[in-house]
Amino acid sequence: MNDTFTYPSHTHENSVRVSDFSRNLARGFQLLVLISTVLVIAGLFVRPDETELVLWSIIIPLLPASFLISPALWRAVCPLATLNMLGNGAVSRRRIGKTDLFRAEVIGITLLIILVPARRFILNENGVVLGSLIAVIAVASLVLGLFYASKAGFCNSICPVLPVEKLYGQHPLLSIKNPRCVPCDACTLKGCYDLGPEKAVVFALRGNGTVRPKWKTTAFGLFAAGFPGFIIGYFTVENTALALGPNIYAQILGYMLISGVLFHGAFFLMRSRIDLAVLFLGTLSVTLYYWYSGPAIATAFDLDPAVGTGIRVITLMLVSVWAIRALWTLISEANSPQAAHHPSSH
Ligand code: SF4
Repeated sequence: MNDTFTYPSHTHENSVRVSDFSRNLARGFQLLVLISTVLVIAGLFVRPDETELVLWSIIIPLLPASFLISPALWRAVCPLATLNMLGNGAVSRRRIGKTDLFRAEVIGITLLIILVPARRFILNENGVVLGSLIAVIAVASLVLGLFYASKAGFCNSICPVLPVEKLYGQHPLLSIKNPRCVPCDACTLKGCYDLGPEKAVVFALRGNGTVRPKWKTTAFGLFAAGFPGFIIGYFTVENTALALGPNIYAQILGYMLISGVLFHGAFFLMRSRIDLAVLFLGTLSVTLYYWYSGPAIATAFDLDPAVGTGIRVITLMLVSVWAIRALWTLISEANSPQAAHHPSSH
C-alpha cells in the first residue's frame, strides 16, 4: 500500500462491460433471492425454529466464505441491494461524497455492533422479532433508494455487512464484474467497493482520504483491529434472556476492546505495514469465525462432531489459499519498481 494510490474515479467510462446474458442471469438470481427473502421472513413467523436453523446455520455461515471468493457474488444478488436500487433515486438522486461516506461507515459499523450481539438475547431464538427486523431493514433500504442514486443510500453507505465485506473481500480470489451498475452513475463519489475492492479498503483506512494515514483511528481501522475479539466474544457467550442483554454487550464489546488495544499496540511496536496488518486481521477474523461456527453448525443439526471438524478444515484451506495469495500479491507489489519510489505507509 503506497502513496501512489488513486481513488476509483466514477465516470461512465469506468462502467464495466457486462454481457446481456450475464445481466439477465444476475436479474434472475436477484429475483430468486428476493423471493427467498420474503419466504424467510414469512417462515420466521410461521415456522420459526426451522427457518432460524436454515438462516443462522446455513445461509449466514456461507457469506464469509463467499466474501473471500468475491464479495461481488453476494453483492450481485443481495436482496437489500435489489430493493435499494429499485427506487433509483425517484424522489432525489443524491450521491454520497467522501465525508458522508465516512460518517455512513460509522453508522454501518455501529449497526453491526448492535445487531450481532442482539442475536444472543433475542434474534437467534425469536422468529417474530427477527422477521420483523429483516422486513424493517428491507423497507428502509427500499425507501432510502428513493432519495439516493443507485446504492448510495444503503449498500455503499450504512449497510452493516459492508465493513465485513471490505475486511474479508480486501483481496478477492476471483474478479467478478458488477452486473448491477451498467452504466455506473457515480452514486458513490469515492471509494465504491464495486469499482475497486482493494482500493475501497485503502480508502476506508485512509480516513477521509488524507495522504498520511492515521489508519488506527479511522472507523474501519478500529473495527478491523477489534473484530477478532468481537468474534471471540460472540461465540463465547450463550443465548440468553432479553434481560441479560446488557451483559452480552459488555462481554462482547469487552473482547472487542481488548482485541483493538492488543493489535493496534502490536502493530505500532512492530511498525507494521497497513496492508499486511489488515490482511492479518481479516485472516484471523475469518479463521476464528469458522473455528467456532463449524462445531456450532454440526451441533445445530445434531450431526457428528466430525462434521464440525470437517467444516473447520475445509474453511481453513480456503482461508489459507486466500491469505497466501493476498500476501504474495502485496509482497510482489512492494517489490515492484514503482513501489521503490513510494514506500509503504506505517
Ligand atoms: S455502486 Fe454507484 S458508484 Fe459504485 S459502480 Fe454502482 S453506480 Fe457506480
